[in-house]
Amino acid sequence: MYGALPGDQAGPLGRPAPWRRRPAIQRAGRLHGGGVRGHLRLGRKGLAIGIDIGGTKVAAGVVDAEGRILSEARRSTPGTDPRAVEQVIVELVEELGRGHRIWSVGIGAAGWMDLAGGTVLFSPHLAWRNEPLRENLQRLLRRPVLLTNDADAAAWAEWRFGAGQGEDRLVCITLGTGIGGAMVMDGRVERGRFGVAGEFGHQIIMPGGHRCECGNRGCWEQYASGNALGREARLLARANSPVAQDLLAAVGGRPEAITGAIVTELALAGDRASRELIEEVGEWLGLGLANLAAALDPGMFVIGGGLCSAGDLLVQPARKAFSRNLTGRGFRPEAAIELAALGPNAGLIGAADLSRVSSRVRS
Ligand SMILES: [Zn+2]
Repeated sequence: MYGALPGDQAGPLGRPAPWRRRPAIQRAGRLHGGGVRGHLRLGRKGLAIGIDIGGTKVAAGVVDAEGRILSEARRSTPGTDPRAVEQVIVELVEELGRGHRIWSVGIGAAGWMDLAGGTVLFSPHLAWRNEPLRENLQRLLRRPVLLTNDADAAAWAEWRFGAGQGEDRLVCITLGTGIGGAMVMDGRVERGRFGVAGEFGHQIIMPGGHRCECGNRGCWEQYASGNALGREARLLARANSPVAQDLLAAVGGRPEAITGAIVTELALAGDRASRELIEEVGEWLGLGLANLAAALDPGMFVIGGGLCSAGDLLVQPARKAFSRNLTGRGFRPEAAIELAALGPNAGLIGAADLSRVSSRVRS
């Protein structure tokens, strides 16, 4: 995480922390299997607050060393003004801090953080561009603060407390409006050279295909996300196919009202057309995972996000398509594909735990 070991960041109030002076070879060194977990056990047992900043809401919780949420609070995301967002974070920490002794604060948001974890380089839902958020917040909160990408935080939580426990090479895929991606390799969040790894949703899976907001065409997230599911269902409904009769009836005959969430709900209730639409998304999912397996060779993929409430309706076709498209199939072990275990709170649990584990070196 943050390109090196937990805690490899500037200290509170922006001062360089003493642990940054560890020998480079130690900072760059890889930790393996049991060694990593042994290392984490040395971490503080204290409580941390995790804050997940989304496009519409800010969710916060007090999280203990076992990943349990002890209390929660929520606010609307106050527009895009960085100062207003900071103010909401301060309020949430004050509110949740009453009655708990809080050691550190972890903040997860969509977007890219610099490798040192101090600056938001870019966040799609917020007007943060090169924003030194951590420095500002540490001054206001007078506690260690850690900034992390929301997908990285969720992956960390699944590795520590959820479906990915015990897996040394874990890839997490979050299926929502787009596709979030993150990797926990040998006990660390792997973020690449510049801190922006994991953008799996923008692998081009269909050259010349649907236009993506990233500017390219045919990105994976245009085929295997909640938004893709909604789009395909609307197309089916607009085609006036008798197949889509129940789907249309569920939205009062207005195709534009169909969303991925509605399709998922209908599929779970047994609607055939909705099940077929999810199966199709599952096949695209499996194809993309096979590409990732060719590059990364993980032991497990954990699939989270809103769309995973479809459960086996999504994952079974994904597993089938994965096996069918895997490079060297029949001659290699296959990665497991599992549903995430922690639900929508994974991001805040992971952000809190990362901040706690990361700040342990200060004690
Ligand atoms: Zn794209």
